[in-house]
Amino acid sequence: MSRGEPPVGFIGLGSMGAPMAANLLAAGFRLRVWNRTPGRAEPLVAQGAVLATDPAGAVEPGGIVVTMLADDRALEEVTLGAGGFLERLGADGVHISMSTVSPALARRLVERHRERGNLYVAAPVFGRPEMAAARKLVICVAGEEPAKARARPLLEVLGQDIFDFGQEAPAAHVVKLAGNFLIASAIEALGEAAALLRKSAVDPAAFMNLMSTTLFACPVYQNYGRIVTEGRYAPAGFRLALGLKDAELVGQAASGSVTPMPFADLVRQRFLAAVAKGRSDLDWAAVALGAAEDAGLPAGAPRKE
Ligand code: NAP
Repeated sequence: MSRGEPPVGFIGLGSMGAPMAANLLAAGFRLRVWNRTPGRAEPLVAQGAVLATDPAGAVEPGGIVVTMLADDRALEEVTLGAGGFLERLGADGVHISMSTVSPALARRLVERHRERGNLYVAAPVFGRPEMAAARKLVICVAGEEPAKARARPLLEVLGQDIFDFGQEAPAAHVVKLAGNFLIASAIEALGEAAALLRKSAVDPAAFMNLMSTTLFACPVYQNYGRIVTEGRYAPAGFRLALGLKDAELVGQAASGSVTPMPFADLVRQRFLAAVAKGRSDLDWAAVALGAAEDAGLPAGAPRKE
């Protein structure tokens, strides 16, 4: 889409949304943005985005709107609530929904969009804010083909890889939840291994170096192995409160599909305990502190970068 075409709406300028929107602007898309806290839009407005006063105001009838919001509640409010954009998006509009939300909400939104002749494309992402800034997100897409075709030029700006999971939008959200379940389980396992090593007077960093360069030479173990051994949980790339949200969504999806997931239950309890201990605004890797505490090790004050 060139600068001559209608502006794209971008809603949700948090840790992920802000760098994603900046990349779309840099690639030549015109943007109309909205964020609940308007001050967070200032850097984008300085780069040429237009700030809307409500979600509907960010949307062009028949155009494209991208949402990157915290959770189900936020997505529901900006879409269906007062000032929500669904009506204004109108016939032939496309909603590219990139937040991590429940497949159940996606199913409902697909229907609500269809009633108005517009389309919901699920496009949740893997990758932390620095990956978003570097245009290296891994994007899982699902939805009707014409809508995916319209979404594609934007997604190619935002990510390094796009994986297509078919025409049923909720599928991409299930993929995202299953992936986050794997990452959260890896963080818990890293925390338990680090605790065992510390109790045995072995340097966890030396162990992580071995594992992350040989048997577990992949981004999840490399990045989270470093964060856990260094105890660098602030500032958060992905807030622990949102990690609990995802753990809850995994549990709901598992119950809804009658899929026992005992690991998922354990990890959810770890997140719940971490929130109860006041760690909501630390990085979700701080869930690893639970294993250290259970082993009688001092968790220590989180280090800052
Ligand atoms: P974040 O920094 O906490 O930003 C959340 C955004 O949602 C902000 O724009 C916030 O507005 C908005 N919001 C929250 N509640 C709202 C409500 N009730 N109504 C309207 N807006 C509301 O979160 P993030 O890290 O950018 O994550 C965004 C989404 O991407 C989440 O679904 C997350 O699970 C997913 N994700 C995150 C990462 C990561 O590493 N961070 C990676 C992959 C996927 P305010 O500015 O007003 O608070």
